[in-house]
Amino acid sequence: MTAVEEARSGCDHGCVLVAGNLVRLPDSDRWNVEVRLTCQGCGEPFRFRGLPVGLNLDGAAVSVDGLEARLAVHPAGEEPLPLGDHPAGFAFRPIELEERP
Ligand SMILES: [Zn+2]
Repeated sequence: MTAVEEARSGCDHGCVLVAGNLVRLPDSDRWNVEVRLTCQGCGEPFRFRGLPVGLNLDGAAVSVDGLEARLAVHPAGEEPLPLGDHPAGFAFRPIELEERP
């Protein structure tokens, strides 16, 4: 067991840093916040569960590694925009890979 693995195994993850980055997409009124969680005791990142992989400008998604949640937001006093000409985002779907002989 490495020193990092040993530190993580004894940590109760009682102090977690929440780091966010608010992004306003260029030439639009679209906002997205990227959120990451990291245990301050052992440095282990947290993985988000239950979100589709990709980017959804009208909802929530997660990075491929699951470590960054991407959440669509907008100022509370403004109405959310209809999709219009803006792309809604992208998503990845798991596929079954065929084994080759
Ligand atoms: Zn920890």
